[in-house]
Amino acid sequence: MQRLRLATVWLGGCSGCHMSLLDMDEWLMTLATLADLVYSPIADTKRYPEGVDLALVEGAVANEEHRELARLVRQRSRMVVALGDCAVTGNVTAMRNPLGPATSVLQQVYITHGGPRGEMPDEPGSVPILLDQVVPLHATIPVDLYLPGCPPAAPQIRELIEALLRGEHPAERSNFG
Ligand code: SF4
Repeated sequence: MQRLRLATVWLGGCSGCHMSLLDMDEWLMTLATLADLVYSPIADTKRYPEGVDLALVEGAVANEEHRELARLVRQRSRMVVALGDCAVTGNVTAMRNPLGPATSVLQQVYITHGGPRGEMPDEPGSVPILLDQVVPLHATIPVDLYLPGCPPAAPQIRELIEALLRGEHPAERSNFG
C-alpha cells in the first residue's frame, strides 16, 4: 500500500481540533506505519510541501496569512478536509464579525477595552493583518469534505482517515459522524 502524505494545518482555531487528533492515542502508532506527516504544527517542516494527499485543516480564515496558506494548501493537496466547526462555519473564530471590519475590531480590542494606556500596537508585524470578516474555509478555497464538531471526536477523525486509506472516495460518504 502506498503511504499517505498527510498534512494538518492550523488556521484560526483554538488548536482543540489538533488535540482531538492527538486523542487518537495508540492508533497514531498504526497511522505512523501508513502515512508520512509531511506538514503540521506538531512537525518541524515550516514550508507547505508539494504533493500532499490529504490536508486536515483546522480553523477559520481570519487574516492574510491564513488566506495565503489556505490557497497554498489547496494548490498542493489532492484532498482538503475542513476539520471542525471553525473551518466549517467560522464558529468561535467568527464571533468577532459583529464588531465590524478589522479597524473597528482593533480599535475596540486595544483602545475601548484595552489596558490603561489604550494604545494600538505600532510595531510592524506585531499583529497579523486581519481580514474584515472571518470566513469559513470554503469561502476561500474549494473544500472536498467537511468534518464538523467542536472538536470532531477522535474516532470520527480516525474513521475518515481509515476510509481514505481504503481508497474510498469521500463523495461516497457524506457523513463521518
Ligand atoms: Fe477549537 Fe472548536 Fe474551533 Fe476546533 S472547532 S478550533 S475545537 S473552537
